[in-house]
Amino acid sequence: MKVPFLSFTPQNQAIRSQVLEAMSRVFDSQWYVLGEAVKQFEAEYAQFSTTTECIGVANGLDALHLALKALDIKEGDDVIVPSNTYIATWLAISFVGATPVPVEPNPATYNIDPARLEAAITPRTRAIMPVHLYGQACEMQAIMDVANRHNLYVVEDNAQSQGAAYRGRITGSFGDVNATSFYPGKNLGALGDAGAVTTNDAALAKKIRTLRNYGSQQKYYNEVIGHNSRLDELQAAVLSAKLPILMEWTSQRREVAALYDQHLAGIADLVLPATAEGATHVYHLYVVRTSRRDELQKYLGEQGIGTLIHYPIPPHLQEAYRFMNFAAGDFSIAEVLATSCLSLPMWPGMREAEVEAVSNAIRTFFKS
Ligand SMILES: *Cc1c(COP(=O)(O)O)cnc(C)c1O
Repeated sequence: MKVPFLSFTPQNQAIRSQVLEAMSRVFDSQWYVLGEAVKQFEAEYAQFSTTTECIGVANGLDALHLALKALDIKEGDDVIVPSNTYIATWLAISFVGATPVPVEPNPATYNIDPARLEAAITPRTRAIMPVHLYGQACEMQAIMDVANRHNLYVVEDNAQSQGAAYRGRITGSFGDVNATSFYPGKNLGALGDAGAVTTNDAALAKKIRTLRNYGSQQKYYNEVIGHNSRLDELQAAVLSAKLPILMEWTSQRREVAALYDQHLAGIADLVLPATAEGATHVYHLYVVRTSRRDELQKYLGEQGIGTLIHYPIPPHLQEAYRFMNFAAGDFSIAEVLATSCLSLPMWPGMREAEVEAVSNAIRTFFKS
């Protein structure tokens, strides 16, 4: 049986008529940028996030960038970031002229290790950016404690973890200002690029609303050097149609993960995902680890099973960050993850037979 890495089929079938209806409403409204659909989605996503404010923007990278800009983080500032995140988190820091200071993850959960934070804090440190990687909430209590002790901002990167929680509180609601992405493959995905910022701070929200729209609150009056980073009406309408079903889709992801856990248990050289005490996981990705990663990926590919690597090169070893003069070995946990992790097929509505086919192929591989 062929199994792709990702299929939108069950999701799209479930919401086809609602989404098409929402799109024709926008089409007929003759108002396509910053109108009622964006306003409505912002209110709904703020409520979902248990924050008072949500600002829709063009994508997740802009959400991170505008969040840091609104906090006035700039050249000369240090920002703590995971050594093993998607490069977007680092890029946002670079865009405001600040310096990314990598901190290694807990090798069991892959999320930033709160016990390593204090050693990375300097007099220049202004903020910590936890990334709820692969869909698992970071250990937010310990992170918030360190931030409060050192008077640092917290900016969550919630791109992979809409609906996850730590000790009952939803991700994207802990930090001073938080960013998420609705890239199509994310747990809540648009039909193109989209993102949002969430916060409980009305003044920060106002700044971000101004920054996303040319630095302007009143048309043709520009207060600051702003951006064009608006959420489209069409994407907002699609997201409003999908949001009510997000937690049902999350349950389906958890069912798929539980099946993998069951079918893949007991393989010696295969580490399955682990969830920290107090955290929940929304399985944006189901990531396993093995010392035979490249061989396994090749074997699965030959069987028609799609996999991906999140991520093959940690940011500190990317060409783009060569100017910072990091060396191989500087962040060895991130480097080992990059050579050993493999993301298995995962989507809401993935059938048990498909999970079994992937699991059986993996078992066959490890018997050889
Ligand atoms: C997807 C992602 C982003 C960026 O989102 P875009 O909408 O693609 O710009 C940022 N951080 C993480 C962890 C992501 O997975």
